[in-house]
Amino acid sequence: TQTTRPQRMLAAVQKNATRGDPRSVVKAIDQFCRQKEWAMNVGDEKGCILDSVVTEVNPATVLELGTYCGYSTVRIASLLPSNAKLITLEFNPDYAAIARQVIAWAGLEDKVQLVEGASGDWIPKMKEKFGIETFDLVFLDHWKDRYLPDTKLMEECGLLRKGSILLADNVICPGTPDYLEYIRNSPRYKSQYFKSHLEYTKVEDGLEKSVFLG
Ligand code: SAM
Ligand code: MG
Repeated sequence: TQTTRPQRMLAAVQKNATRGDPRSVVKAIDQFCRQKEWAMNVGDEKGCILDSVVTEVNPATVLELGTYCGYSTVRIASLLPSNAKLITLEFNPDYAAIARQVIAWAGLEDKVQLVEGASGDWIPKMKEKFGIETFDLVFLDHWKDRYLPDTKLMEECGLLRKGSILLADNVICPGTPDYLEYIRNSPRYKSQYFKSHLEYTKVEDGLEKSVFLG
């Protein structure tokens, strides 16, 4: 019978990763994507940049836009202190079902709240539904034309405080030109590019890290 790529990625985790060991989950997915099938995870190379930002910010509240199979969710959540909370949004129910199992395999379900639905619908409800005041860190990795409208929506909804960090993936490939233009020129942000490569390839891509100045 036919399986999907996310199902095959989950099978690779169940076969090769140790339950309760997030790094073994990350490693199993990276191996699958390098040896078997490319997939749209942030990947090992940019993943190291993501890890260093999470460690530096040491956030208590994190929002991830775009869960897919939970690869970056596992990377981020494994670096959070025990009281911290990561909310991750995914609008594809098939991907969300896989991600729940990947996150559980890593033993991180207590730190992660996976919310199914579209970012534009959930961002305005963060305060009311999840008691979030502001996010310390937001990882933007959903569809690229949503980075800019969702950033403006987070501003309007008061979800960013002075010092909140936005970290945006794939700003070069596939690229987010309207977002980069905004974030680099707005006096409300201080922004920095981290050059790297598109996941599992040698094509240039990078992460944009932006501090909200209030
Ligand atoms: N962050 C993941 C990782 O590195 O492992 C990869 C995320 S993948 C590049 C983007 C995901 O965002 C897809 O699974 C897609 O279904 C989801 N998505 C795209 N637009 C969305 C939106 N507006 N709201 C919620 N999910 C969205
Ligand atoms: Mg990405």
